[in-house]
Amino acid sequence: MTRRPIIAGNWKMNNNKAEAKELTDGIMYGVSQLEASKMPEVVLAPTYTALWQVYDLIKNEPKLSLAAQNVNPNPSGAYTGEISLDMLADFKVKFVIIGHSERRQMFGETDEFINQKAIAILEKGLIPIICCGETLEQREQGVTDTHLASQITKAFQGISPEDAKKSVIAYEPIWAIGTGKSCDAVEANRTIGEIRKVIKNLYSNDVAESIRILYGGSVKPSTIVEQMAQPEIDGGLIGGASLKADSFIELIKGAM
Ligand code: 13P
Repeated sequence: MTRRPIIAGNWKMNNNKAEAKELTDGIMYGVSQLEASKMPEVVLAPTYTALWQVYDLIKNEPKLSLAAQNVNPNPSGAYTGEISLDMLADFKVKFVIIGHSERRQMFGETDEFINQKAIAILEKGLIPIICCGETLEQREQGVTDTHLASQITKAFQGISPEDAKKSVIAYEPIWAIGTGKSCDAVEANRTIGEIRKVIKNLYSNDVAESIRILYGGSVKPSTIVEQMAQPEIDGGLIGGASLKADSFIELIKGAM
């Protein structure tokens, strides 16, 4: 089974209009130099305020697709400050990142809410990038695998095998995010293999072998080649190193 790798840049709360344009222009130029058939699927996840602009800049570039960093699962209504799937669909958003540890920890998002989002995203024909990951304390206590199994099982509740197959998982150990301390590639590979086993138990070998599972947490141009060489790792969800066109292009090349 060959799974097409994904390199996704999660811009988080960075880049005003001018910065978003400069970064997107730089990425557009960089990918124009690369051979499409060898490239991973490349995904940009700007802030909501930059979505329209980035959509407009990349709309004729098939090498790039768009992700949102969040969504509200309700179709419309009195949800001040929230954005619906219908609004994202206007900008041909293909992926939506959900369950990021920053949203779980800082904004109190629960497994149940993340599951509601996954269901709504798939119903709308978009693809969720479902994040999971353990704290340093959980890793030290040896409960990493059971914690991830619980997060994944709850996120996929009520999702059909066909929809599960299309979904993307991102394993992001919380202690590795923004710390410069990437998880050892072999250990990330092992952990992602465990996540794949959870999917196999929930669904089937076919779904487990089809679903793409990314690694995230201080991915850099200097770590990507070793990470991509691991058989279980299908790409990267990248924060800091996605904010400069040069390093993001290096990450794309590292996945080719
Ligand atoms: P960093 O690459 O900055 O560690 O962020 C990872 C991340 O959280 C991507 O979603």
